[in-house]
Amino acid sequence: MSVGASNPPLIELTDVRRRYGGGDQPEVEVLRGVSLSIHAGEFVAIVGASGSGKSTLMNLLGCLDRPTSGRYRFNGEDVAGFGADQLAWLRREAFGFVFQGYHLIAAESARENVEVPAIYAGLSRQDRAARASALLTRLGLADKLENRPSQLSGGQQQRVSIARALMNGGRIILADEPTGALDTTSGTEVMALLHELADAGHTIVLITHDREVAAQARRVIEIRDGQIVADSGRQEATGLERQERQAQLAAVPSVRAAGEGSGARRALWAELAEAARSAWRGMRMNRARTGLTLLGIVIGVASVIVMMGVGEGAKQRVVDQMGSMGTTIMYLGGAYVGSGGPPGEITEGDLEAIAALPEIGYVMPVIGDPTPVRQGNVERQVYVFAASEDMPAVHHWKVAQGRYYTEAEDRDLAALVVLGHKAHQQFFPDTPNPLGRVLLIGNAPFEVIGVMAERGADSGAQNYDDMVFIPYQAGRARVYRVQTQPDYTVISAASVEQVTAAEKAMHALLLARHGREDFRIGNAAAKLQAEAQTRNAMTMMLGLIAAVSLVVGGIGVMNVMLMTVRERTREIGIRIATGARQRDILRQFLTEAVLVTLVGGLAGLSIGLAVGAVLIASGVPVIFSLTAMGGAFACSVATGLVFGYMPARRASGLDPVVALASE
Ligand code: ADP
Ligand code: MG
Repeated sequence: MSVGASNPPLIELTDVRRRYGGGDQPEVEVLRGVSLSIHAGEFVAIVGASGSGKSTLMNLLGCLDRPTSGRYRFNGEDVAGFGADQLAWLRREAFGFVFQGYHLIAAESARENVEVPAIYAGLSRQDRAARASALLTRLGLADKLENRPSQLSGGQQQRVSIARALMNGGRIILADEPTGALDTTSGTEVMALLHELADAGHTIVLITHDREVAAQARRVIEIRDGQIVADSGRQEATGLERQERQAQLAAVPSVRAAGEGSGARRALWAELAEAARSAWRGMRMNRARTGLTLLGIVIGVASVIVMMGVGEGAKQRVVDQMGSMGTTIMYLGGAYVGSGGPPGEITEGDLEAIAALPEIGYVMPVIGDPTPVRQGNVERQVYVFAASEDMPAVHHWKVAQGRYYTEAEDRDLAALVVLGHKAHQQFFPDTPNPLGRVLLIGNAPFEVIGVMAERGADSGAQNYDDMVFIPYQAGRARVYRVQTQPDYTVISAASVEQVTAAEKAMHALLLARHGREDFRIGNAAAKLQAEAQTRNAMTMMLGLIAAVSLVVGGIGVMNVMLMTVRERTREIGIRIATGARQRDILRQFLTEAVLVTLVGGLAGLSIGLAVGAVLIASGVPVIFSLTAMGGAFACSVATGLVFGYMPARRASGLDPVVALASE
């Protein structure tokens, strides 16, 4: 064997050993000190009996496996120093594998199978399809581009795998028993093809147990029990061959120089689109299983949305009530004492003392009774509400038309009246603007100066819209003349947070002043607040239950992804052999998991909205919050990421040799 000093071997093995086992298993040395040089452009056959270590050797040559000891130099560089990504780059750019069992991805068409190495090389979709079609056409499969492997004969499948080996250039074709599973005719065809490639300058390493097949190569190396026992030596090259070899050698770039470049240049979105496309296909292939897995996510997301919506709706209803009744309002009145006697009286002094408490906002004594009210020939019993000018502020109520009376007018016993919305309609049905008109209350004339905004039906017996409102002093002086003290007093806390404290302070104060509990405090606000809090807790709990169902859905996704990885172990091996990096595999399976949850999230979102719409239509208050919807959706996607990571990690960590040998 003569080696030109000017061109170092493309592949150089020095005393390479490969041992299996160790630990609790018996150790076997499958390759026992193999030294071998292969130059660019050579067509080498490695022949040996079954079990002699040929495939093991080829896996080492193709960087699918590492030697236990010894040195492998590729193009002059020691492979031992290469990282996983650099090895993947070598597999992608320098090698092309052809296996006895073809190793095509069953779910993909012939063309797509051929495209796989180019995906990892970052070729655009169009360029990929064009090159794959051209290669398949050159190999006589022009009419089989879209056939699945199962729709092709063995010979055709092997040609597809040769096309795949050539996809990224295939400078070195590593063929492990390429004719082993083929009939004679197909086998001859494949050999002819390899000859053609050898003539075109490809370096070919052909592994076979068949001496006749091996004899067709230009150099035959015989291996027995893991050792090279014969080597016909490198043929003297013709001038033309030498030229081609030189060209080949020049075409193999330095790994260290280019190892990372091509990967980094690739657009992330293109990779993601690619992963999503293959994920989508995987999902469609296993429709029933995907559907069932999705169901968990769908139910999770839909229930989060509906539960939160219902909870929010119920809460809003309470808040609305609080708004109309006043979030800070308490009622104070005299009460009978158990021991008998007249009811307690709330005096002016009491009210002044209460108003001085820091927790208290407004103090508004009210006199109100059904009273005959007349206007023209209309006469009705109307609840006449006599209180201070604070009434609109206390009740969070607006004047729709005209104005409310002022403190000065109240002090001056001004005979002014503001109408409730309905009262306006009842007394002045044909007068849109009743301002300036006169109403007889009791028998006293009152001038209309305003109309309140419509309030709607309040809870409780009173309907504020039916009432008319007059100043407290005028009421005392002109309508309720016998009355010496207010019917009740409306007291508001200084703030929503202080309602309970205000009630306590007021209670203590009155008890001190009266010496006994001859008064009653009604605290509607506190009741409503307590109710709102309960609702809040309910909403939280429902949301939690819904979130748990999301997690359960996520576990389902993880389960299915683990199954997918197991089922597709061989596919993963094929992808690694054709140049996929670990992160390509990780990304693909992660994308699949996220796609599942994304689809589930979208379906859940629509179902949640639909259920909510039905509830709204049937009168249940539901409020969809964008936060809840976005949150549920984001959670579902995050679930995919979290629960898909472990299976994807497992896939990307697979040993290619083991993966290829699976099932
Ligand atoms: P060939 O391809 O020449 O038929 P192989 O390289 O596949 O042979 O295998 C050579 C020997 O190594 C066989 O005896 C086989 O049983 C053994 N072998 C291969 N892979 C493993 C492994 N992962 N663990 C243990 N022994 C192995
Ligand atoms: Mg073998």
